[in-house]
Amino acid sequence: MALALSATPPSPPQSLSITNNSKNDNSINNYSLLLSSLSECKHMSQLKQIHAQILRTTLPHHHDTLFLYSRILNFASFADLDYAYRVFYQIDTPNSFMWNTLIRACAQNVGSKVHAISLYKEMLEEGNVMPDKHTFPFALKACAYLFALSEGKQAHAQILKYGCGSDVYINNSLIHFYASCGCLDLAEKLFENMVDRSIVSWNVMIDAFVQFGEFDSALKLFVQMQKLFEPDGFTLQSIISACAGLGALSIGMWAHAYILNKCEYGLVSDILINNSLVELYCKCGSLELAQQVFERMPKRDITSWNSIILGFAMYGQADVALEYFARLVKVESFWPNSITFVGVLSACNHRGMVNKGQELFDMMITGYNITPVLEHYGCLVDLLARAGHIDEALDIVSNMPMKPDAVIWRSLLDACSKKNASVELSEEVAKRILESEGGICSGVYVLLSRVYASASRWNDVGLVRKLMSDIGVTKEPGCSSIEINGVAHEFFAGDTSHPQTKQIYGVLDVIDERLKGIGYSPDYSQALMVDERSDGKQHSLRLHSERLAIALGLLSLKPGVPIRVFKNLRACNDCHQVTKLISKIFYAEIIVRDRARFHRFKDGSCSCMDYW
Ligand code: ZN
Ligand code: ZN
Repeated sequence: MALALSATPPSPPQSLSITNNSKNDNSINNYSLLLSSLSECKHMSQLKQIHAQILRTTLPHHHDTLFLYSRILNFASFADLDYAYRVFYQIDTPNSFMWNTLIRACAQNVGSKVHAISLYKEMLEEGNVMPDKHTFPFALKACAYLFALSEGKQAHAQILKYGCGSDVYINNSLIHFYASCGCLDLAEKLFENMVDRSIVSWNVMIDAFVQFGEFDSALKLFVQMQKLFEPDGFTLQSIISACAGLGALSIGMWAHAYILNKCEYGLVSDILINNSLVELYCKCGSLELAQQVFERMPKRDITSWNSIILGFAMYGQADVALEYFARLVKVESFWPNSITFVGVLSACNHRGMVNKGQELFDMMITGYNITPVLEHYGCLVDLLARAGHIDEALDIVSNMPMKPDAVIWRSLLDACSKKNASVELSEEVAKRILESEGGICSGVYVLLSRVYASASRWNDVGLVRKLMSDIGVTKEPGCSSIEINGVAHEFFAGDTSHPQTKQIYGVLDVIDERLKGIGYSPDYSQALMVDERSDGKQHSLRLHSERLAIALGLLSLKPGVPIRVFKNLRACNDCHQVTKLISKIFYAEIIVRDRARFHRFKDGSCSCMDYW
C-alpha cells in the first residue's frame, strides 16, 4: 500500500489544508505509526514516502503534525539539504527547532554557508521565534568561514540582547569567529572576560594563537590550562604545531610522550596529530624521530609524505628525500601535489643535483599535469645558479610565464657572489632586484658588497655601505637561539645581555685558543656583511650570534646531547668552518638550522658537504 514515490517537491502549503478530517478517530494511532516509521527511516526514498503519507493522513496544524515535520526536516537536513529547504518553506510558522535545524545544516555544508547567514537574518525579521544557544554558534560558524565580520558582530550584539552573553558554547563560537576574521585581540578579550571556560574555550584560544603564529602565547596559555584540564587531542595537536613553529623540541617531545602514555589508540594513530609530530621533528632536525613517527603511522595522507620529504630535503639528505618520493609514487601509488615537488626540487637544490632537478621539473609538468608556480621556478633557478649555471638560470628567469619575485633575483645575486660571476652581471641582477622592490631591499646591498669584496674591490664595498647608511637601509640583524631545558635563549652578534655572559665569553676564549693551536686562521671574506647588528655596529667574527649560542650549549648541555641552534640568516663562511672544527675538538654534535636548511656538524664535517 505504499504511496506513489514523488521526486517532486512536496505540495505547497495550501494543499496541506485539504487533509481528510474523517481520519480524526484514528489519528493517535496514525501519528504513532508515522513516528515509528520516521524513527526507522534510513533513506531519502523512505522519507519521501512517509512525507507523502503525512500529507495525506494528518491535520496540517496539529502540534503532532508539526512534530513529525521537525523529524522530517532533521533527517533531510543531513541527507538532502534541498529537500529540507522545500519542506521548511511549506511550514507556516516554523518553530525554533526547525529554524535551528536548517541553519545548522547550512552552516555545516560547504556550499551553503551563505544561506545559514540569510536564514538567520530571516529568522530575526520574522520575529516569531527568538534565536537561542542552538542558533548563534552555527550562524557564527558560517560568518567565520565567510570572513563575514560585520554580520558576525551583529550576531554578537544579538547574543547580548537575548541574554546569551554568558553561555560557554556561544562564547567559544565567538572566539573562533573573531580569530577566523583576523581579530585576535577581540578573541583574546572575550576569552579573558569569560567567567566559565570549558576545555573547548582553552583549545579554541590556543589554536587561535597558533594560527596567528603567536606560538609563545599559545604555550603560555597551555601551561595555565593544565592547572584546570587534562589536554585532549585538539590541545595536543595545537601544542605540537606551536612547538614546531618555535623549534621547542623538548615541549613537543613532552606532548608526544603524553600522547603515547596517556591517550587511547585513536589519538596515537590520529593522522593530524602524527602529521604535526612529523613536522615538529623535521623542523627541529630530529629526522630519526620524524622517521619513526612516519613509519608507525597506520594511515598517511599527502601532507604526511610532503612533511617527511621536505624534512630530508632541508637536511640536505637528497637521496633519502628522493627515496621517499619514489616510494610515494611507485609503491603507494599516491598522486604527488605541488608541494611534493617543491620538496624534491629543493632536495636536489641542496645537493646541487642539476640533472635530477631538471628531470623532476619536467616530470611534474608532463607526468603529473602540475603547472609550475613561482616557488618551483625559484627552486630550479636557485639550483642552476648555485651550481654555477648562472646563464641558464637567467634564461629561465627571462622566459618564466610570471614576473620573477625578489627571492629569485636574490638567489641569482647570491650565486653571483659565491661563484665569482662577473661583477657586471651581479650589478645587473642587483639593479633588477632594486627595481622590483623599490630600492629598499637591504639584502641586495649586503650581497652586492659581498660580490665586491670577493673581487677585492674594497672601494666599492665602502661605497655600498655608505649608500646603505645614507638612505637609511638597515639589515635584519642576525639572531640565533638555543633551547636549554625548555627555555629558549636568544643572542644577537656581540650580545652581552645574557646572565651567563661572562662564562659564555670564557668558552669563546677557550675555543679561540684551541683553534689557534691547530693553526686555524679566520676567513674574513664575509666578515663585514653577515652578522652585524641593525645599529650598524660591527662585531668580530668570534662574536657572531651562533657562536654565542653554541658556547652556551657547550657550557650548559651534558656531553653527548646535540647542540641545536636556530639562526634567522645564513651562516657566514667562517662560522661554518669554525663550527665544523668545534664539533671535532669538543666531540660535540651541533645542528644549526639557518634561514634555508639544516647543517649537522659532527667529527669536523658538515652534512651539507659545504654546499649551502
Ligand atoms: Zn658568522
Ligand atoms: Zn653546513
